[in-house]
Amino acid sequence: MCGIVGYVGNNDACPFLVSGLRRLEYRGYDSAGIATLTAADGFRLTRVAGRIDLLEKSIARKPMFGTIGIGHTRWATHGPATEENAHPHMGGNGLVSLVHNGVIENYESLKQSLISRGYLFKSATDSEVVAHLIADTLKHLPASSIANNSESIDRYVEAVRQSLDQLRGTYGLAILFRDQPDLLIVARCGSPLVIGVGKSEQFVASDTSPLVGYTDRIVYLADHQIAVLRPDSIQVQHRDHGKIRPDVQTLAAQETEASLEGFEHFMLKEIYEQPQSIRNALRGRLDRDNATAKFGGLNLTPQQLRSVKRIILTGCGTSWHAGLVGEYLIEELARLPVEVEYASELRYRNPPVDTDTLIFGITQSGETADTLAALREMKRKGHHTLAICNVVGSSIAQVADGGIYLHAGPEIGVASTKAFTSQLVVLSMLALYFGRLRFLSYEAGQRIIRQLEQLPETIEKTLECHGQVREVAAKYASASNFLYLGRYYNFPAALEGALKLKEISYIHAEGYPAAEMKHGPIALVDENTPSLFMVPQGAVYDKVLSNLQEVKARGGPVIAIVDQQDSHVMSLADDVITVPQAEDFLQPIVNAIPLQLLAYEIACIRGCDVDKPRNLAKSVTVE
Ligand code: GLU
Repeated sequence: MCGIVGYVGNNDACPFLVSGLRRLEYRGYDSAGIATLTAADGFRLTRVAGRIDLLEKSIARKPMFGTIGIGHTRWATHGPATEENAHPHMGGNGLVSLVHNGVIENYESLKQSLISRGYLFKSATDSEVVAHLIADTLKHLPASSIANNSESIDRYVEAVRQSLDQLRGTYGLAILFRDQPDLLIVARCGSPLVIGVGKSEQFVASDTSPLVGYTDRIVYLADHQIAVLRPDSIQVQHRDHGKIRPDVQTLAAQETEASLEGFEHFMLKEIYEQPQSIRNALRGRLDRDNATAKFGGLNLTPQQLRSVKRIILTGCGTSWHAGLVGEYLIEELARLPVEVEYASELRYRNPPVDTDTLIFGITQSGETADTLAALREMKRKGHHTLAICNVVGSSIAQVADGGIYLHAGPEIGVASTKAFTSQLVVLSMLALYFGRLRFLSYEAGQRIIRQLEQLPETIEKTLECHGQVREVAAKYASASNFLYLGRYYNFPAALEGALKLKEISYIHAEGYPAAEMKHGPIALVDENTPSLFMVPQGAVYDKVLSNLQEVKARGGPVIAIVDQQDSHVMSLADDVITVPQAEDFLQPIVNAIPLQLLAYEIACIRGCDVDKPRNLAKSVTVE
C-alpha cells in the first residue's frame, strides 16, 4: 500500500512525478523517492525518509531531468522507513530501477539465491529482490542476433515476465532499464495501477487522482497484466496468455483534485461534507411508490434475491464496523440471518457457506487486499459476490459480480469518516430492500424512506454539536485511556468511535456493548479514564442508563451523548453532548458525527498529524 507514479514521453518527467506523489501521499507516507533516466547520464535517484515536501526540497537543491521516470511514496512492510529502504530500488549494478507496491512473500529464498550469485543488497526491503531478479533474468536471456529495436524490447519484456513468474505475493511494479531510455514497463498482481494515455506521453499511477489535468483517457490494468509503455505506444499483455487490446476509458469529469476549501484538515472537511455525501448515497435509490430501495448494479433478479437465505458482510477496520451495523439492520428489517466477518479471517478460515448465501465486501477504496481476497475466494466457491465501495473502477468493482457505489467523493483523510456514514446509509437501504422482498410492510417501508430522506438535514443539525465537542476534547485530551459504550445499534458505533480516537490521537480506547462492562472492563474505570456513553432515547435507554450509573458509582468521569434535554443523564454525567433525535437504526450515523469530531479535536490538541496519522495509510493493499 503505497503510491506509484511513472512517466514516459517528451516532457520533463519530474513535475508530473512529484505532483502525482503528492496526490497519492494518502496511500503511504513513510518515505518517498523518484528516479529519472537519460541516455547520456543514466539513472538519477532522489530518496528521502519522510514526506513529499522533503523530497521536493531535495529535488529543488539537485534538479532531476529526463523525459522518463518513476516515483514512490512508501508504506513500509519490510524494513524501517529509511532512505536506503525508500524506493526506487536498483538492480544488477544500476541496470534496472523499479518501484513496488505490495509484498513479495518468497523474497527471502529469492534473495539468498541472488546473493549466492553475487548480487549486493542495499536495503532490507522485499522489493529490491525484484530489481535484481529482473536484472539477472535479463542477463541470461540471449540477445537477439538481429539488433532490431522492437526485438530487443521484447527481450526486456520477457525478462520481466519470467521474473514475475517466480514471485509469490502481490505487486504493482513500474520498471525502467538503463539501456532503454524510452521504455517503461508496468505490471500488476493485487496492487492497483492505472495508465493515463496522453499525446506522445504515457502516465502511470496507483489511482486516477494524479492523472487529473494531464489526461482523461485511462486504462485500468488488471491482475496478471503487463503494460509496455513508450512515448507513442501502449501495449498490454497477459503474463501468460499474450497480447490484449487495451480498453481505453474516459475519466469522469467530476474526478477533480481534492482541495481543503478553507478547512484546516481533510478529515474536518470530510466530516462536514456528510450531509451532502449522505444525500449522494441516497440519490435515486429510494422508490416511494413501492416503499423500497432500488440499486442498479446488484446484477440479480428480485427472484434470485428473494431466495437468498443468508448474508455475509466482510470488511476490515471501519468497514467491518459498518458491517456490524448492517447485521443489526438486515436482521431486524429483513429477518435475514447475517454474519459479519473480518476479511482477513474469512479468506483463510474456510467456513461452511451454503449456496444460497450472498457475500458483500465492504471497502472504501475498493483496494483493501484482504477484502478483495475474501471476495475472490467466495467467488471461486461459486457464490454471487457484491461490493459496497466508494472508488469507481477500483479492483473490487472489477472483481465482484455487482455492487453499490457510495458516491461519497474522494476521501483523503486516512481515518474514514464520510465513507463510514455512507456505508451505513447504503446498508440501511439494502436492509429496506431485502425487508420489502420479505416481511416488511408497505407502511413500514414508507416510514423508513421518510426517515432516510430526513437524514441529511438531521446530520446538518448534528454538526452543531461541534462547540460542545470542542469543550469535552479540551477537558480530556490528556487522558491515556478511553472507554466507548453503547448498546444495540450504538454498540458498533462505540467500536468505531474508539477506533477513530486510536487512529488519529494515539490514545488507547476500547469500545464495548455497555452491558459488557461488568464482565471485566469496568475494572479499568478510575478517575483518569473517561467513559463515553451513547444514551439516546429508544429501546435500550433505561438499560444504558443503569450501565452509566455503574461507571459513575466507581468514580469514572462520564461523557454522555444524548438526544434531548435529558435532565436525568445531565445530573449524572460530567459532560454532555446533544445530538438530534433519530430512530434507533439511524443513531449510529448521527452519533458518528460527535465521535469523529471528538477524535479530531483531541488529535489537534495533542498536535497529531490528523490527515496522515503515524503508521497508517489510506488504502490497505497489503495483507
Ligand atoms: N514491501 C515494500 C516495502 O516494504 C513495498 C511497500 C509498499 O507498498 O509501500 O518497501
